[in-house]
Amino acid sequence: MNHSRRRFFTRGAGFAAAACLLPRMGFAADVPRVDEANPQATALGYKHDASEVDTAKFTRYEPGQTCANCQLYTGAADSEWGPCGLFAGQHVAAAGWCSAWVPKA
Ligand code: SF4
Repeated sequence: MNHSRRRFFTRGAGFAAAACLLPRMGFAADVPRVDEANPQATALGYKHDASEVDTAKFTRYEPGQTCANCQLYTGAADSEWGPCGLFAGQHVAAAGWCSAWVPKA
């Protein structure tokens, strides 16, 4: 392969990778985080930090349960925030929890 063809393919792969990553980065940065004080979050006992769950009120909670291991969480495995099926258009904390928690299958 001559030098210019190699450079074309090398740069093409770099541009393709950037084109795949940039929209995801922009998306994650633009999505608002769930406000713990909003009525839905309050009703579900949602907390950004699962260790702060009101365990007297939400007796279903067991240590180790977090949004990251909930079936409704669709964030990337290494993300700190991500989408949840219950909070459309907002992100929940991977370390969070609410009373709708369901174990990931
Ligand atoms: Fe977190 Fe699951 Fe509750 Fe969504 S349903 S806030 S992912 S525990």
